[in-house]
Amino acid sequence: MAEFNLVLLGAPGSGKGTLASKLSKKFNIPHISTGDLIREEIAKKSELGQKIEKTVKSGKLVSNEIVMKLLFSRLEEKDAVNGFILDGFPRNIEQAKALEERLAEKGKKISTVLFLDVPKEEIMRRISGRRQCEKCGAIYNVYSNPPKVEGKCDLCSGKLFIRKDDRPGIVEERWKVFVSSTEPLVKFYEEKGLLKKVEMLGSVEENFKKALNALEAVE
Ligand SMILES: [Zn+2]
Repeated sequence: MAEFNLVLLGAPGSGKGTLASKLSKKFNIPHISTGDLIREEIAKKSELGQKIEKTVKSGKLVSNEIVMKLLFSRLEEKDAVNGFILDGFPRNIEQAKALEERLAEKGKKISTVLFLDVPKEEIMRRISGRRQCEKCGAIYNVYSNPPKVEGKCDLCSGKLFIRKDDRPGIVEERWKVFVSSTEPLVKFYEEKGLLKKVEMLGSVEENFKKALNALEAVE
């Protein structure tokens, strides 16, 4: 198979991470999440990692420059020779253009961009239903994956709570940020003829099938 360079665009709660890891197994190409790259660099305690940690702790966003540095060196690794699945990148047009240039330098290009479409109401429901165990960290969802006893962890009987990020006001704010940054990207890739939409409203398996159908349509 030819090189397969995939970009996933989708809101928090769209099922992007789960789909990415299934596609990664299916096509035997790495799932590269910029969030993971940032966490790994911090864990390494490298000079760059320490710098990033300071930024993150102060509540600021890691700069475009640093995110791209991490990503571009990750793309050089052997396992990404035949392709990759990008999750969390690009987040804006500047990053999209930089990625395009970088790939072109290597004689590569993006094969397809999958836009994971989920209506706002559904995203809100998924996120507002999320509960976490304060003892062991297990994640539940009162709608799709409820604990056996309300408010209690199945594994350790710990109390379940709503994470700060999942509170209604903050979810609304995250949604706005997502829409304002993603709409221009969707347009950007649509104009290049690279965009495929996948409605992520079914089960994990159904969504996976839809994504495969969308991908085969361009090959
Ligand atoms: Zn627990």
